[in-house]
Amino acid sequence: MNLLEHQGKFLLQGFGLTVPQGELVESPEAAADAAGRLGGRPGGRVVCKAQVPAGKRGKAGAVQLVETPDEARSVAERLLGSEVGGYVVTALLVEEAVDIARELYAAVLDDPASKGPLVLFSTAGGMDIEEVNAQTPELVHRLPVDPLEGLSAQALWEVLAGTDLGEPVTNAVSEALQGVFAAYEDADANLVEVNPMVVTSSGAVVALDAKVTIDAGSVPRQQERIDALPGGAQVEAGTELEQRGREQGFHFIELDGDVGVLANGAGLTMTTLDAINHFGGRPANFLEIGGESYTRATPALGIVLDNPRVKSLLVNFCGAFARTDVMTEGVVNAIEELRPDLPIAFTIHGTGEEEAIAMVRDRLGIEPYDLMDDAVQAAVAAARGATEEAAR
Ligand code: GDP
Ligand code: MN
Repeated sequence: MNLLEHQGKFLLQGFGLTVPQGELVESPEAAADAAGRLGGRPGGRVVCKAQVPAGKRGKAGAVQLVETPDEARSVAERLLGSEVGGYVVTALLVEEAVDIARELYAAVLDDPASKGPLVLFSTAGGMDIEEVNAQTPELVHRLPVDPLEGLSAQALWEVLAGTDLGEPVTNAVSEALQGVFAAYEDADANLVEVNPMVVTSSGAVVALDAKVTIDAGSVPRQQERIDALPGGAQVEAGTELEQRGREQGFHFIELDGDVGVLANGAGLTMTTLDAINHFGGRPANFLEIGGESYTRATPALGIVLDNPRVKSLLVNFCGAFARTDVMTEGVVNAIEELRPDLPIAFTIHGTGEEEAIAMVRDRLGIEPYDLMDDAVQAAVAAARGATEEAAR
């Protein structure tokens, strides 16, 4: 679950970070009023920032420095209702402008390599961190953290001692980084990124942007915190089919290909997606239905097939403790009920495979493939054929 910038800042404030004073607005009038209050003295500048869960808003013109309430109003007129990074802007954060002396980069994220939290810090902030990493990797500091030990001030100090920040700023940055780490840990985040973390002309350290992702699996236990966020929980829109999947309790992600996929378990599903790509095809979806394939195959298959891009269906089951004949019975029932008019390739391995294969053959008149590779190639070829047919 992605938080909006202003929600991320609200979270970080609770962990001791300094953020600019700001107000969330939803109309040009409110933007002008807020700018009047926050700009203070005449000529006091404010920043208007589109609240969408996408990055690179600065480059897209969705972060604007303005000098008067009138300017804030016209910026809000332009931004509200427009599309930024694929999202329609419904709210702006109007903030007092900060006098930036230096832009830093700070983040804590789940690191697959060290299988734990990783602190990333750079004195080259404000830019795309991937770019900094590609061009000046020596400016990106990495500190893997043992999740049981937590972030040690000593280790942090050693990282910061290698920079040119100077001692008073280093202290403030160290404290800010510990706050970012505490927020990451306490909120069950996958990512807390502050880019830029700025040093102001008076030497204060301020979080000027915040990107926070809360682990989807932790949303229930973080519910109280999420409900307390300003603006309330952001229900991620997703596509229509994804929303339908979520409502029915499936983990469904729509992809841009044409091979519909039904497999048991997330691991086998991802392997199947890789195999489709390997054989030159494009998968149409990720879908996890787990051990419930038997009872819930009809709504699950319905979602896969309602994707208008789907030109063939690949069913890949592999069972050890879970019986493939039980899963297959659910899917065969679903296919008999939904009667999809497209080529279907089956491949079934493991416990109950003989019964499962016989069931597909007898009830659907389809011969399952012995090898997964062959089933994948057949589904890819069928989808390609149908797409070429349609193009003629
Ligand atoms: P992003 O492009 O979506 O990451 O949006 P950011 O919140 O990071 O803003 C983009 C850039 O706008 C920052 O890197 C800053 O350079 C600039 N910016 C944002 N807020 C202020 C501010 O208060 N004062 C000044 N001078 N620049 C700002
Ligand atoms: Mn940013």
